[in-house]
Amino acid sequence: MKFSHPEADIFVPGGVLAAEAALARTTHLCIAAHQDDIEIMAYHGIAECFGRADKAFSGVVVTNGAGSSRAGVYAHYTDADMQAVRRREQRKAAFVGDYAVQLQLAHPSSAVKDAGSATVQGDLAAILAACSPQVVYLHQPADKHDTHIAVLAHSLKALRALPADKRPKKVLGCEVWRDLDWLCDADKHLLDVGAYPNVAASLVGVFDSQISGGKRYDLATAGRRLANATYAVAHSTDQYQGVSWAIDLTPLVQDPKLSVRDFTQRFIDRFQNDVAERLAKFF
Ligand SMILES: [Zn+2]
Repeated sequence: MKFSHPEADIFVPGGVLAAEAALARTTHLCIAAHQDDIEIMAYHGIAECFGRADKAFSGVVVTNGAGSSRAGVYAHYTDADMQAVRRREQRKAAFVGDYAVQLQLAHPSSAVKDAGSATVQGDLAAILAACSPQVVYLHQPADKHDTHIAVLAHSLKALRALPADKRPKKVLGCEVWRDLDWLCDADKHLLDVGAYPNVAASLVGVFDSQISGGKRYDLATAGRRLANATYAVAHSTDQYQGVSWAIDLTPLVQDPKLSVRDFTQRFIDRFQNDVAERLAKFF
């Protein structure tokens, strides 16, 4: 298995299978922009497959981790040092989470944000040709990070290019840079992320370069999952120990002609109407 960038990294945590065989086992796949995005957005898939012989989670990180903030022991690190640290941290997470395979494609952000990038498209097409996941976790279309949206666009393009019978049954847009609590309840896809809280904490915790750099992603991610679980339903006790919200993007893959902009706008319109209708009852 070979990818377009010379720094691309392939890691099979078990070490027994070749990358191709590990990828072929994949039932749950996440395609994310940066190191640590997978562990924040797709813990549901990781937990679904954890310790199971019949299910396997694999992760794809598209960018190279360049330009990361650095502080503390990392303050004097060069950009190349930092990319190496982030690559190693992603491998640690893959080991802790028992992933089938971790792929880090090492593309610079600038290349990823080029909508026509043939190298990014080629890599994603090769990955999807080599596995048949039932569930795919992507960035959600209302995320506020340009690189996340760019990776979503490349991912959807690659999924839409698959023959209809090879497309995954479920494609979900997940929370990182902007949560999905604002969706109307009927539009929310609930992901129960309460299993193995010790593993969940470790998965975000291994990204020390980010956390020591001054961003408590570990606490914030756990806090968001708890808040989602408690604020999910007003009139009953908590049913879940942790919840992540997702948007069901499957219609965008089933119908390659469906406009991503129109599809997303409809969720926003329903949110707007929900607020306006409630206010109209009292004002
Ligand atoms: Zn990210």
